Amino acid sequence: MARVAVEVVYRGIFQKNLAQRITRTIVFAAKKEGKVGTAFGRYGDSPERNGIPAKQFAVVADDELELEEHLAQYEPKDVDVTIAVDDTLCKGVESWAWYGLQPINKPTKAGGTLLVTSQQGRTDLIQDIHARSEPYSLGVVRGSVSFSGLWVYKEDHTDVRVLGALAKVCPELVSIESMEAAIRDQWDDNLKIASTRKSYERTETRVVEPGQGNPETPYSFVLPGWTEMEEALVVQGHGQGTGFRGAEPVGEFDPHHNQLGGAGYEPDRNQLFKKFSTRSMRPMVNFDTCIKCTLCWLHCPDSCFDVTPDGLYDANLEACCGCGVCDDVCPVPDCVVMVNEAEFNDNAGQWEFWQRDKEGYNQWMTGLVDQAKAEKRSHGFHHVGGYAEDIAEMEEVASDD
Ligand code: SF4
Ligand code: SF4
Repeated sequence: MARVAVEVVYRGIFQKNLAQRITRTIVFAAKKEGKVGTAFGRYGDSPERNGIPAKQFAVVADDELELEEHLAQYEPKDVDVTIAVDDTLCKGVESWAWYGLQPINKPTKAGGTLLVTSQQGRTDLIQDIHARSEPYSLGVVRGSVSFSGLWVYKEDHTDVRVLGALAKVCPELVSIESMEAAIRDQWDDNLKIASTRKSYERTETRVVEPGQGNPETPYSFVLPGWTEMEEALVVQGHGQGTGFRGAEPVGEFDPHHNQLGGAGYEPDRNQLFKKFSTRSMRPMVNFDTCIKCTLCWLHCPDSCFDVTPDGLYDANLEACCGCGVCDDVCPVPDCVVMVNEAEFNDNAGQWEFWQRDKEGYNQWMTGLVDQAKAEKRSHGFHHVGGYAEDIAEMEEVASDD
């Protein structure tokens, strides 16, 4: 076997327990087969932040020596299986641990497997995942993406369904029998065992050929080396009072009217940490019903709203982390609604579309809002516990043949 490494890419804090359960259980299952292993998180992602992509690893080997040899690295540079527990991570991930956007399949070995929890099919997911030059396999664990709020865990069997699928796509790691035994040891729950087995039986993979997928090159930055850094601690401030449309400064900002003499206003933003890969939902604004109350602009924790020349508020989707505060504070019903991030392929501004074609924009927006209300997509920012409504679905996963 040599060594088998698995990484779980998850949304910071909201899915931390989920990732830990998956990686720990892999190690317990490997132990059942006389193998050795270890599970650990990436130091660079601590302290985690809400929604930020983070990683946990499980590394399994035949003996201690082999394991130690592979753990001499800070973290595995290539993994046999990458597990993404939120399908919007397929667009690429930006974390605390590096600068720029990394493709979700970057550490997946040539011929390795990417396993994604999603309600989307593989064809749709491939559109988001960055193309690369080595083939890999793609598998989907079907179901709503599991999010729990802070300090709570959503017991919806995503953990064991991922583990059942993992035993199928990577039999050299552990057998399904060992996986089930480890799950029984921890939770002694027949429903969980049924979910594990069902996921094992249902999971299939498809080979993604070289060059297939999103052709875009993810953004990256050249950072100064330590020899180029300034002496002492320097906190660079941003000048106040200048506004921008695009890259062009457009004059003095009038804070009393949030306006730049009709030119609009874009606050300065961190160009080295864009943050949009934190998002699993994004706000849709109804510019026709907006009463220009400024609340979204004031409350957005990331200063995402640009003031448009006509005094409306347009979320800058490069900077938006998807927290949903604007949706919460907007006093007009359905004027700001969080919708599924998986429905989008870019970060284009909404106001420009609305300006160009109001009817077309409103039709598009209404469709996305209706869909968001109908589907069960959620994110950790809005979860405060109480998952009783999900139990019926969880049981269906286990008992439906
Ligand atoms: S969801 Fe709304 S409040 Fe939150 S970061 Fe995005 S624009 Fe700002
Ligand atoms: S909170 Fe709602 S109504 Fe107020 S400015 Fe923002 S979008 Fe318009």
